[in-house]
Amino acid sequence: MIDLHAHSTRSDGRLTPTELVDRAAEAGVTTLALTDHDTVDGLTEARRAVDAQGIAFINGVEISVTWQGRTLHMVGLAFDAQDSRPTDGLATLQQARLSRAARIATKVEKLGVANALARVQAIAGNGQITRPHFARLLIEDGICRDNAQAFKRHLRPGRDAHVSIEWAPLEAAIGWIADAGGISVLAHPHGYRLTGAWRRRMVTAFADAGGDAIEICTGATDAQQEAVSTAHAREYDLLASVGSDFHAP
Ligand code: AMP
Ligand code: MN
Ligand code: MN
Ligand code: MN
Repeated sequence: MIDLHAHSTRSDGRLTPTELVDRAAEAGVTTLALTDHDTVDGLTEARRAVDAQGIAFINGVEISVTWQGRTLHMVGLAFDAQDSRPTDGLATLQQARLSRAARIATKVEKLGVANALARVQAIAGNGQITRPHFARLLIEDGICRDNAQAFKRHLRPGRDAHVSIEWAPLEAAIGWIADAGGISVLAHPHGYRLTGAWRRRMVTAFADAGGDAIEICTGATDAQQEAVSTAHAREYDLLASVGSDFHAP
């Protein structure tokens, strides 16, 4: 059982890398990639845990990309995590996350959240600060009922606590992973609220920029979406990937 997309506390996942590996092994996963948002910081701990469990491990990362003014996610797999080309690139995204966090904090404070930046930094600890961390504050302070409502009302584009920033260009993200010997995967192609025509444009741009693979099957896809992505993979000669996009039990 192969899972090439999963998160830990190094970004917006709820389990530490060790807890994630242990849970995956318990669930019967035999090959796992840890793919935290814009960081490779959890890979060393995950690899140690994987060795103890006797399952196979693949280096991973989920890179935030800006394409045509939209945010896309690209999973990088099986690259050299010591290579400075991906790590230098990711450092610029980590800096962008930090300055975005300060701006989102100001906005959620206007909604009644107290001391937002310090609290979100405390929750994120040694992980990247993500929008789901701000969702947790909105829930804790009784402003929202749950994560879905926090995104719907406040955190998604066009809402009052959204801050749009420029992530990595698509070609750059593909280049970082290729330079470090890895494979770039267009993540959850059905996760972007795109029309069919725009989804095709996205897949075309990804393939033209040198992308290697497309995620066919995630925890959120249905059979029809998997059929569409399979057809795209065949048409554009892309490899197929599979991953749960696990965030929390
Ligand atoms: P960020 O990269 O910090 O902007 O946060 C993106 C993460 O927020 C995604 O990886 C998802 O885990 C989560 N997310 C994005 N949109 C939604 C949504 N509409 N509802 C719930 N979670 C979401
Ligand atoms: Mn996430
Ligand atoms: Mn994603
Ligand atoms: Mn993900």
